[in-house]
This record gives sequence, C-alpha cells and structure tokens, in this order.
Amino acid sequence: MPQLGFGVYQVPDDEAAETVAAALAAGYRSVDTAALYGNEGGTGKALRESGIPREELFVTTKLWNTDHGHDVALRAFDDSLERLGLDHVDLYLIHWPVPSRDLYVQTWRALSEIHESGRAKAIGVSNFEPEHLTRLFEETGVVPAVNQIELHPRLQQPELRAFDAEHGVITEAWSPLGRGNGVLDDPAVRRAAAKHGKTPAQVVLRWHIQLGNVVIPKSVTPSRIRENIDLFDFELDGEDLREIQRLETGTRVGPDPRTLS
Ligand code: NAD
Repeated sequence: MPQLGFGVYQVPDDEAAETVAAALAAGYRSVDTAALYGNEGGTGKALRESGIPREELFVTTKLWNTDHGHDVALRAFDDSLERLGLDHVDLYLIHWPVPSRDLYVQTWRALSEIHESGRAKAIGVSNFEPEHLTRLFEETGVVPAVNQIELHPRLQQPELRAFDAEHGVITEAWSPLGRGNGVLDDPAVRRAAAKHGKTPAQVVLRWHIQLGNVVIPKSVTPSRIRENIDLFDFELDGEDLREIQRLETGTRVGPDPRTLS
C-alpha cells in the first residue's frame, strides 16, 4: 500500500474523473473513495482510462452505514465494484462501526468472504476504536489490514495509533491536513515550512510520513495536488516534530465514532 494516496471526499462525480486524472499525472497511484462520496463512477473512469497498469494502482472504497449486515454488505460491495467498473479493489473498508446498530461484526464476516473471493485484495475498517477492533479480533479472528481514522496535528490519536500498531493494523490518516482548518496557519507549522523552504501543507504531510501514518490528502486544485505529493526531498528534525506535537487540542473535524449512528 503506498504511504501517500489521494482522497476524493466532496469531489462531485462529474469532476472526479478530471481530478483523479490530475492526481495520477502528478504521480499518485493510490486513490481513496467511498460509496458515500457518490463519485466511484468518475473515479473508476479516470483509473480505467489512465493507461496505468492495474497492478500499479491501489484503489480503496468503503461500505456506507446504511449497508451494514451480512447480505446487505455483499450487495453493497457488488454495487461499488460495478460503479468503479473494476473487477477488484485493493482495499475495502467499513466506513464507520455505527455501534448503535450492532451489526459491524456481521458486516466484517461478509468482508472476509469478499476477501477470500479475491475481489478485495485487503479488507479493513475506518473510525474503529479499540473496543470495536477487539470485538472483531475475538468474534472473527480476522485482523483488519488498515484502520482509517481522523488524524492530524490537532487530533494526534497516540493511544489508538499504538493500539493499531500493537495488533498489526496499519493506521491511515483521514483529513490529514485537518481539512485546512487553522492547522496550516499555525505559527509552529509556518516556522518549520520557512526553515525547510516548503509549504505548511507539505510540513504537516511530512510529519505524518515520518510518524509512519498512511495519508490521503484531498485537493481539487492542480498546483496543490502536485504540492501534496512533493514531500520526499526534506526531513523534519526533532525540534519541528516536538513543536507539532504541542498542537494537539483533541478537536475533531468529523463525528465521534462512538456516537455516530
Ligand atoms: P484534508 O485534511 O485532506 O483537507 C483537504 C482540504 O485542505 C482541501 O479541501 C483544501 O481546502 C485544503 N488543502 C489541500 N491541500 C492544500 C494545500 N496544499 N495548501 C493549502 N490547503 C490545502 O481533508 P479531507 O478531504 O477531509 O480528508 C482527506 C481524505 O480522507 C478525503 O478526501 C477522504 O478520501 C478521506 N476521508 C475519510 C473519512 C472517513 O470517515 N473514513 C472522513 C473524511 C475524509
């Protein structure tokens, strides 16, 4: 799985093909979509028409909250594949655990069957807290490859990252830039950017890379799409990392997974 990918949340379907094509041209090979985003069609079109060999691409999509339950999940996956126009995805995720419905273990069994069929090369979850992961381990014995969680300098998730790592689950950061909300204007981030001759977004993404997180920044602006992949010619030092660590406020940009229903 590439450590850096491209997210397409809130990209309208009729703009997705052009946006994903720009990302592929910039060098991204991993794309993160979801049934919820309504743009699997445009995303799949760009991937199919790119001329890039399928084995060089890494495609992730996700099962939405209304599709929990064993049989419903199997159908939801078929529908996603059809919209993408692909014969397999590289990673299929449960988008949210929705604990109030208490169906995610059944859904996970369906994803395990999909994995065994070869139509998802890997399966994982998103927005799962330790108690949700523990139930999957104990009730199915199948460990998710990935846990995609909200993670950025304002919400650094040290306990959840450690729990994932302890159980062999890769942590993937969604809203890695904190959706731009303030993090990119923070003086500590700006100082590090000036010091390294990079932009604030590059500093924040580089921080994730050095922590070992998978990142999937989103942009529809071609210059930013290129900027967000240009991260591999500099390194943050101990001082930069300590300053960014101090930016934690515990503030979410998205819902709390324990209560989202
Ligand atoms: P993000 O942190 O990637 O921020 C994106 C926003 O930051 C852009 O809309 C733009 O306003 C700004 N931005 C991007 N590049 C910039 C740059 N170089 N300079 C200045 N500003 C810049 O937020 P996101 O889109 O919420 O998250 C990224 C991806 O994560 C999504 O597209 C989606 O694929 C995934 N995601 C998953 C979940 C989940 O529940 N699993 C939830 C939200 C997002």
